Amino acid sequence: MKRGNHCCPICGGELKKIKVSKIVNSESEEAKDWDFSSGEVYMYGDVKLIWTEFSCEKCDRKFSVDDVYNAERELKRAKRRATKKIERK
Ligand SMILES: [Zn+2]
Repeated sequence: MKRGNHCCPICGGELKKIKVSKIVNSESEEAKDWDFSSGEVYMYGDVKLIWTEFSCEKCDRKFSVDDVYNAERELKRAKRRATKKIERK
């Protein structure tokens, strides 16, 4: 696998970056989960939000960028633990 590519935390398949968009109204309940400010400007009404997600080519699952980074951090930690165990032998 090329450097910089990300792996699926579930099946290990290659992840593709995809653009996801959604229209959220600034008055809706859902709006609390989103950042409606763009620089100095706060957006009102129906706002089209666009973000990046990862999609697995193998199992077709979708992951947020945070999910993937957290999973990779966990994996690195687990690998480090495994290495330590071997060293102790
Ligand atoms: Zn997968």
